[in-house]
Amino acid sequence: MSDAIKTSSLSPEFRKEIFEEPGTEKITMCFNCTGCSSGCPMTELEPEFNIRKFLRMANLGMKDELLNNPYLWYCTTCYKCQERCPQGVPNVDALLKIRTIAVQNGVMLPAHKKVGQLVVKSGHAVPINDDTKEKRKALGLDEVPPTVHRFPDALSEVKKLLHIAGFDKIVAEEEEKK
Ligand code: SF4
Ligand code: SF4
Repeated sequence: MSDAIKTSSLSPEFRKEIFEEPGTEKITMCFNCTGCSSGCPMTELEPEFNIRKFLRMANLGMKDELLNNPYLWYCTTCYKCQERCPQGVPNVDALLKIRTIAVQNGVMLPAHKKVGQLVVKSGHAVPINDDTKEKRKALGLDEVPPTVHRFPDALSEVKKLLHIAGFDKIVAEEEEKK
């Protein structure tokens, strides 16, 4: 993506949707000091990821460009940018809201969908294996944590909640495309 911001599909509704998250309207107070992006450890690794630019795009209502930008998912949520902002802009909260809107619109990276499928299937993003069980035992922990691993009957409740939230449908799309 070049540094120039394209203004092809401005959506005031998208902007309003972001502002439903308390405090995110403060992105309108950004005076472009670059404090957030210049200190971002992810931007150091991947210059295409730029929190300042993404929030500028959000403020303009650039829904399509933003939701379909794969770098949207590169933030590690370390919150360094949010702590540095002299204007009190909740950068990360705004970015997380944008990600939420992306997911609600069925936009996720394929890898994230796969993790989501694991959650739907097993109740966990990372299923337990024998190696992990051994490590837990060596640390003096129970072999399995007190989650659906230990209470498999609760898995149906997890699945029910994910279904009510529509999450199972969102992550199933990737499988259907195969
Ligand atoms: S640190 Fe705050 S004011 Fe400065 S560019 Fe980032 S969001 Fe804008
Ligand atoms: S929270 Fe995200 S955008 Fe902010 S500094 Fe950390 S990696 Fe960068």
